[in-house]
Amino acid sequence: MRVKAFEQLISREAVARRLVRWLRDKKGRRFCPGCQGRVIYRLAEGRFRCGRCRYTFGALTGTWVGQSRVTLPTWLWLIKLFELEGTAHQAAVQVGVSYPTALRAFTTLRRAILAQEAPGLLRCEVEADESYLGGVRKGNRGRGAAGKIPVFGILERQGRVVVTVVPNVTGKTLLDETVKMVKRGTLVYTDKWQAYDARTFCGYRHLKVDHGRRFSHGKVHINGLEGLWSYAKGKLLKHHGVSPHRFPLYLYEMQFRSNHRRQDLFHLILHAAVQPVPDPL
Ligand SMILES: [Zn+2]
Repeated sequence: MRVKAFEQLISREAVARRLVRWLRDKKGRRFCPGCQGRVIYRLAEGRFRCGRCRYTFGALTGTWVGQSRVTLPTWLWLIKLFELEGTAHQAAVQVGVSYPTALRAFTTLRRAILAQEAPGLLRCEVEADESYLGGVRKGNRGRGAAGKIPVFGILERQGRVVVTVVPNVTGKTLLDETVKMVKRGTLVYTDKWQAYDARTFCGYRHLKVDHGRRFSHGKVHINGLEGLWSYAKGKLLKHHGVSPHRFPLYLYEMQFRSNHRRQDLFHLILHAAVQPVPDPL
């Protein structure tokens, strides 16, 4: 969303509420978050009551953003700053909320976009590569660096990327992840690391990149994923180290940004944020 359109949204709360309703409710028709009933009465101060179960609710009740006391205009600002890759600290200063509130809000947005990401197997030609991300200590580059979290990524040429935290980077783990994410018969490009040898036995066509000889040889390269890893490293640096339990959310945020880089991110994030929170399993 361009700044001009955002300005309109932020200056007129009624417009923002209409947009939220349109994004949230099926075809703009209001329904009860409790029983999905369609007979809804309007009460004062933007509240509603269900004609079937008598549940009273607001425009954001039951959604990701409805879990906090932050108002809709404040949420719009937080989403804008999140879209622009600001940190929670910057958002707290700019929007005038406390740092814990901003951090909670950003975590909520990360959970919301994760809940929206559609699964589906990657196919045709993919790059596979592992990396170590995060951690607070500098140095110790390369495989097995202390304090870093092993991650594995698969990128479809001209398509989506899927990244995931892995317990280790043995051949078995990487093969298991590949089987989960990639259609059999797909051509997989990897680097020459030995862990990737097992892949040839399991229904994938496999080509290795020899970094020592030449960085890329025609189509045989993994430059796309290496670009993503360096973007991820820069981003994590900006956040001054991310705690291990929140790390997967940051990783999926990067996956989301990469997969939707040509789309209107503000609109997508807002759409995700006003969806109903799924029931815990
Ligand atoms: Zn109801």
